[in-house]
Order: sequence, then C-alpha cells, then structure tokens
Amino acid sequence: MATSDVPRIGDGEELGREMHALMRRLYPICRSITGEGVRSSLAILQEIAPIEVREVASGSQVFDWKVPKEWNPRAAYIRAPDGSLLGDFRESNLHLVSYSVPVHRTMPLAELREHLHSLPEHPDWIPYRTSYYRETWGFCLPHRVVQALAPGDYEVMVDVSLADGSLTFGELALAGESEDEVLISTHVCHPSLCNDNLSGMLVVAHLARLLAAAPRRYTYRFLFLPGTIGSITWLALHEERAEKIRHGLVAANLGDGGPFTYKRSRHGDREIDRAAEHVLAASGAPYEIQDFVPFGYDERQYCSPGFDLAVGSLTRTPWGRYPEYHTSADDLDFVKPRFLTESLGRYLEVIEVLEGNRRYLNLNPKCEPQLGRRGLYRTLGGDDKGRERELAMLWVLNLSDGEHDLLDIARRSSLSFPMIRAAADALEQARLLREA
Ligand code: ZN
Repeated sequence: MATSDVPRIGDGEELGREMHALMRRLYPICRSITGEGVRSSLAILQEIAPIEVREVASGSQVFDWKVPKEWNPRAAYIRAPDGSLLGDFRESNLHLVSYSVPVHRTMPLAELREHLHSLPEHPDWIPYRTSYYRETWGFCLPHRVVQALAPGDYEVMVDVSLADGSLTFGELALAGESEDEVLISTHVCHPSLCNDNLSGMLVVAHLARLLAAAPRRYTYRFLFLPGTIGSITWLALHEERAEKIRHGLVAANLGDGGPFTYKRSRHGDREIDRAAEHVLAASGAPYEIQDFVPFGYDERQYCSPGFDLAVGSLTRTPWGRYPEYHTSADDLDFVKPRFLTESLGRYLEVIEVLEGNRRYLNLNPKCEPQLGRRGLYRTLGGDDKGRERELAMLWVLNLSDGEHDLLDIARRSSLSFPMIRAAADALEQARLLREA
C-alpha cells in the first residue's frame, strides 16, 4: 500500500465540530462498566461507524475475574433537613458514586459524611468516584456544599438496579490484505467526562470510519470497552485472535490542549513504538515519551506477560496530570474541536507509517546505481524538494540491506516517512529494489 492511500484530514475544522457536536449528545449519558449507558452510547457511535454491540453475561468467568452484575441508576439525591435537594443525579450523574448499591433511609449528618466525596483544592468541582468491586454507596459534591451542611437528619435516596444482566462492548473489524491485525482500543465506561473518556470514543469511531473507506494492508480491530474488565473479557474470549495482533494503541485523553504523549509497549522497541515516536518527532511540536509501566489504561492487560502484545498508548496529557481529570471540570468546554481533529490526524499518521513500512533489498548494492539514466535524478537544479527526494533515494538504497526497514531509514536520515516511502516506491518501479 502506498502512502497516499491513508486518508488525510487537513485542518479538519468541520470534522472537529462534528466530533464536538456528538460529544454534546454523549455527555449527559450515565455510562459505567455495564448498563444502559454503554448501550445508548454505542448506539450513537454507530452513526459514525458500523460498530457491533456484544453482550457477555454477568457471572461469566474471565481469567481471574467475573463479569459483574449490571448496574442501572434511576435516581439519586440527598434531602437536607430544610427540605432542599443535594447531589441530585438528574443535575449531574457525577453526583452518584458509580456502582453505588441501593439505599433509602434517613441518617444523621455524621453518618452521611462517611459517604461524601469532595475536592478541597477545587471547592466548586464535583469529583468522579467509583466503587465497582466493593458494595457501598456514596455521593460526590462540591466541597463548598459539603462545608455548608447543617447538622440534622438527611434522607438518602439511591434508586439503582444491580442485577444479573450483561457487560456490553463494541467491536468493529475491518479486514485487510493481511490477517495480521492492528488493534485500536478505547474505554467507554465514564459518565459525564469529556477528555477522559468521550474524546477517545469519538476519535476512535472516526478513525474507524475513515479507514473503512481506504484500502488496507492490515486488518483493523476497534474495541470500545469498559476499562479493565472489558479488555480482560475480550482477551479471555478471543485468546486465539489476540495472537494476530501485531501492533496496537490504547486511545484516551485526546481532546485537551496538552502535548502528545506516547507510552511505550512492554518491550519498548516494537514497530508500533518506533512508528509513534517517529510521528511525534516529525510533527515539530513538543511531545513526551514514557516507558511502559504496568499501570494506566487497558495496555496493562494487553501487555500482561501471557499476551505480551505490542500495544502502546497515544494520548495528549496523560491521565491524572491535569487538574480537571476525573472531575466535573473535564467538560464540554475543556475539550476543543481542533484538538480532537489534531489527535485524529496523529493516529492517521501512525497508521500511515504502519501501512507503508517494509524492508527492502537494494538490487544494485555495489556502488550507487545511475539514477539519471532511469529518470530518477532531478532534472532542474536548485530545487530543494528535488534535492530531498534524491537524498531520500540515496538513503533508501544505502540502508536497504535487509537489516533496516523504511522506518529505520526515516529516523536515521531525519527525512519524513512519507518521503522515504515515496523514494522506495520510485526505486521499486525502476527495479532497483525488491521487498526483502
Ligand atoms: Zn478515567
């Protein structure tokens, strides 16, 4: 596949606005690791790409874990002694600790306090808290509200169902020339939070839409999963398919204005690592590279030793490193359309490298071949682009000894991957190169 086949989105202003408009529709939905919120969110993403919705029954054993009961909230609030409502779930789904168990009773303030969460350093923000695997309930409130609570009896209402049902996830596979797969995985389990994680859901869905319309060397698999339990479930159900995954990225935090961050796979030097690092270096913008740590998002599962997949994570500001992270301030204003578009563009560039990267053999390795005779030499002097093209050909000829792939050559020459890829195409056409 030649470079130009991977779609380009340019400045994509319109696309950014489209993504942000869909984010506005997804924002109010209460997602968790199971439940109707995930289903209705996937239904919206299906307007972008033909994602298949899969269900796995509660109680299913998945390696060392069990698929949990399905959680569906209906209402939640606290009624203060003066009759006013606090922490009303209808106003913000962040008010209710995710996976809270049902409760409806009256209690003194001291007892209620044990179930309240707030952020003293950001007294107007609502924190996001979960309690997936410990049966309890709780409310998240702005700290200034907690500080103003008067003594007295509080009525607590948590009307939720926690019952056998299923875990829901989305999957889309786009077949390519090869059965070897590229995995793009994102989590779908957060309620009203935009950067973490609606930005990942939207960028990945649009990536799937764009790649569906392009010729593909690799098969692409897009997974929209509840964090941790979702990737564990998918891996447990598809151990054989996982063996086909050659390269992968975990997508999240793609709508803030921070620099891109690439977290390497467990080995740190796989093709996906080299591809992502090359794209970020070539972007000319500041970026950060992090070594693998067995913490973070679903790369923890993909890179567990029993799978050891070449999966890294490409984000903007990493989780936990911006104050708005996991709070009500990670909202529709925090995420900007142009950052979403830019993130989608970076993913496409990494894919362009994966699609185009190959190893070649120079068929005329003893001294340089005569490029002019083959019409490969620039005809006009003083043309910088022509000089770069020529340099790219000389690099490709020199390093195509079977040891180096085009990505190595791009890095060593400090020329862009598309330019190296184009040089290899021209040399192959002139029969000076063949795939190793
Ligand atoms: Zn999160």
